Amino acid sequence: MSFSSLGLSAALLKAIAKQGYDTPTAIQAQAIPAVLEGKDVMAAAQTGTGKTAGFTLPLLEILSKGKPAQRGQVRALVLTPTRELAAQVADSVETYGHNLPLKSAVVFGGVSIVPQIAALKQGVDILVATPGRLLDLCNQRALSFSTLEILVLDEADRMLDMGFIRDIRKVLAMLPKQRQNLMFSATFSDDIRELAKGLVNNPVEISV
Ligand code: AMP
Repeated sequence: MSFSSLGLSAALLKAIAKQGYDTPTAIQAQAIPAVLEGKDVMAAAQTGTGKTAGFTLPLLEILSKGKPAQRGQVRALVLTPTRELAAQVADSVETYGHNLPLKSAVVFGGVSIVPQIAALKQGVDILVATPGRLLDLCNQRALSFSTLEILVLDEADRMLDMGFIRDIRKVLAMLPKQRQNLMFSATFSDDIRELAKGLVNNPVEISV
């Protein structure tokens, strides 16, 4: 199995080679083709499995083919439980998407909201966010989800453990119904399955 058989374009294959990866991990081999086909995905994967590249690579591929984000718009939203994870995901997006004409931003609490509002007003193709700050930004009318194409929940189990369920539900209520959903979680508890029920449609289930 090689990255070139997964359906990624030359710009991304170059970025992957630059990172020194020669073989996709198990989660990448399964998730990347499914996401590229436009399917919803529910994946049980721990940190260290390469799950971040498993969703950021196909996300970048899909978004690079469509119409760029206009002012105030967001095309893909990645929700993470902590600012550390948000920063880490945003780093991957930057690294792999370096050669693509896509804009990304990362927003989390504990820092000034002012530059975040300014960044979002420009429009971003990929927004990585923690739930609380995202809601604050929505309340300030800093962004519109009218053109949102893809939602990713990363470490969904940790988000529930940290008490973000109400925030997540508030965010979901603002998103267009027609969208692609990807859900990553270390475990699939009853609570996670309950959340998934209202979120993913006929998902490809992956377990590594
Ligand atoms: P993650 O599980 O997404 O936190 O990734 C764990 C680590 O694996 C990160 O440091 C990545 O840079 C690295 N990684 C991701 N995909 C690959 C791959 N295909 N080959 C080698 N290392 C990888």
